[in-house]
Amino acid sequence: LEPAYSFMIRTRTPGGVVSPQQWLKLDSVATRFAERGLRITTRQAFQYHGVIKTELKATMQAINAALLDTLAACGDVNRNVAVAANPQVSASHAQVFAQAAALSEHLLPKTRAYYEIWLDEELVAGSGSEDESIYGQAYLPRKFKIGFAIPPYNDVDVFAQDLGYIAILEDGELLGYNVTVGGGMGATHGDAETYPRVADVIGFVTPDQVIAVGVAVVTAQRDFGNRQVRKRARLKYTIDDRGLDWFKAEVERRAGFTLLPARPFAFRHNGDRFGWVEGDDGRAHLTLRIPAGRIVDGALDGRGEEVTHLSGLRAIAELLLDAEGAQFRMTPNQNLTIAGVPAASRERVDALVAQHRLDGHVSASPVRRNALACVALPTCGLAMAEAERYLPEFVDALETLLQRHSIADAPINLRLSGCPNGCSRPYLGEIALVGKAPGRYNLMLGADHRGQRLNTLYRENIVEAEILAALDPLLAGYAGEREDGEGFGDYLVRRQVVTVPYPTPTGIPV
Ligand code: SF4
Repeated sequence: LEPAYSFMIRTRTPGGVVSPQQWLKLDSVATRFAERGLRITTRQAFQYHGVIKTELKATMQAINAALLDTLAACGDVNRNVAVAANPQVSASHAQVFAQAAALSEHLLPKTRAYYEIWLDEELVAGSGSEDESIYGQAYLPRKFKIGFAIPPYNDVDVFAQDLGYIAILEDGELLGYNVTVGGGMGATHGDAETYPRVADVIGFVTPDQVIAVGVAVVTAQRDFGNRQVRKRARLKYTIDDRGLDWFKAEVERRAGFTLLPARPFAFRHNGDRFGWVEGDDGRAHLTLRIPAGRIVDGALDGRGEEVTHLSGLRAIAELLLDAEGAQFRMTPNQNLTIAGVPAASRERVDALVAQHRLDGHVSASPVRRNALACVALPTCGLAMAEAERYLPEFVDALETLLQRHSIADAPINLRLSGCPNGCSRPYLGEIALVGKAPGRYNLMLGADHRGQRLNTLYRENIVEAEILAALDPLLAGYAGEREDGEGFGDYLVRRQVVTVPYPTPTGIPV
């Protein structure tokens, strides 16, 4: 008798876009095959947890029937490309999304093995000898992440990506992109050879150069990335080992052109814009708070009331089935935008949001609304401590502290992670807990709220009571001494409670 193996499956959904029809199919996959509903990841993908081994193939085929796949969503390849959350806001947003989708497509492995194994595609002569001109025989040394940001919002945390594109718009027209390289969150406790790093800006490219520069960066990392020490195999270490100037020259040599000087840009924050917004064309888009990205029925919200998020979003998808251009867009902060809602449907959408308690974006405090948590226990085999399941309880305690100091409205950016791998991008949180052991965390402080500056270790391996005791005087000081509009992380750096752990990266405004 074989043990009851279960698996996690992750979709490839560049920019996190699905239609209402696809949403209903993905919902039915979750209901039939997975435990704990649908989960939105910090890379705008869906994860299904607890899929049992005997149903793997049927699950993959059901995902394929929704015209989606899981190709290259894991492994040492380019992962799901993250894109600023709502491309329907303007024509330029749509253009950026289209370029990101094209790059994602261009960087897909050419192997047919996925189709042969999961979708019963017939083996053909020569199968297995496809032209992998980008990945070669050995693929990349490690996973590779790409993000496209559109200032003033840095919702994709572009400086956490191996390769980033910062769209430069002038009067609504897309001029091109500043290119960033060498971001990455992963680290290992107690190993100084590994560390999180924010990316450097290396120059500017025009829209027609996006794919060429992307291929140049990916293949440079393929050929020069560390294949001996896996923990040092990400692009950030290649750049630190060989130098940024060397890497930029190598990219330019491969791309066949010189990068232009980077253009000015400014980010306001790295969170989502909740509630309704109207696009240039008058269409309405609603961003909803999905706690830790988990879409289930039966969970409790911040008020202790049961939510029916899975049923509610199913009802909204059914309502919008025939609405031309309506889409569900996952954000890189684990939330969801219902995009392209016709004016005639807005009232009904609002009613369904209220009925199914999808209105956390209205009722939750700023700290709860913006908090991120990775999956961690019980699902992730690498987890050392709780994250997603601990988030509501920790936010309760933090809210109590904030209320005591009369700063309940402070939009402090909180991130929880079950281990130092950093799936919730914890090193860019103004307050972050990084798991060390059950109930024990490293307390990290001092990131900005724009995703441009890393936090740093403030207290190591402490329990909740110690975390709150450490935060209490700092929040008291922040309440009394903060300057107009000053974030908590910026305050801690200004008062030298923490020092910036890393030299300011090239090209990032301070
Ligand atoms: Fe990622 Fe670690 Fe969280 Fe697992 S526990 S989801 S590896 S950060």
